[in-house]
Amino acid sequence: MIRGVLLDLAGVVYLGDHILPAAKSAVDGLRSTGLPLGFITNTTRTSKTGIIDRLARMGLDVSPDELVTPAEAARAWLARHKRSPHLLVHPALTADFQDLAEYRETAVVVGDAGRDFTYERLNAAFRALVAGADFLALAKNRTFRDADNELSLDAGAFVTALEYASGRQAILLGKPSPDFYAAAVARLGCDAADTVMVGDDVEADVSGARASCGDRCGAPGANRQVPPWRRGGRDTATDRGRGRPPDGSRLDRRASERPSPEPMNGRHDWPRDRRSELICGMRRTRHSTR
Ligand SMILES: [Mg+2]
Repeated sequence: MIRGVLLDLAGVVYLGDHILPAAKSAVDGLRSTGLPLGFITNTTRTSKTGIIDRLARMGLDVSPDELVTPAEAARAWLARHKRSPHLLVHPALTADFQDLAEYRETAVVVGDAGRDFTYERLNAAFRALVAGADFLALAKNRTFRDADNELSLDAGAFVTALEYASGRQAILLGKPSPDFYAAAVARLGCDAADTVMVGDDVEADVSGARASCGDRCGAPGANRQVPPWRRGGRDTATDRGRGRPPDGSRLDRRASERPSPEPMNGRHDWPRDRRSELICGMRRTRHSTR
């Protein structure tokens, strides 16, 4: 029985600055059931407030308690281990690391810094690591679908470069970290086995959710389905060139014509085909997106 739902954001709710056609009605439908709903993202080019503002501009109101971000996990880690951050993140994310207590020891924190992944900043992080700083990765996504609909390097490529050079392994704080999923599920107030995760990334979303709650996790029609172009966790030759504009794929158009899920009495034991319909209608992209 489904008792809670987690939604990825980029590629599931929005693509770039556009909300996906079926997403608003699907989220509204989920809210109308009274099911606990949460949003879990690896996006690190924007602060939490920035993400909430972006969603509001798209017509979707999300409260801070509903949104779980890697930066929050990093703040908790730094406080728990008494470390000050050496930030290698996007300038827009630094707002999420303000007002932290200062400690003598440091931890290098790497997110998707975009154009700010300069040699100087990478080398400074490398030198901090070889000097003994702890090593935190907000995410290790390989690539993402950029605004021009082409793939771009994500934080994982730079985290891996630092791991290679320093001989250290980063502690992953975002998806697919089981701790990250556990924090998100805890906010829903239900068991992981009763939670559905909807995502578009086979590694961070699908594998991460399954690893966090085992084979019982979610609805069979939900987090276990991987679009053919994502199977194996890599692009296929046919993947390229099939990029669809954010104004709707064939799948989304069909989904937008479907009625929103209707409230049901008591617990929300939706028919399997209804659950699959909702989730497949929202999923359409093949890479992490912004
Ligand atoms: Mg995504």
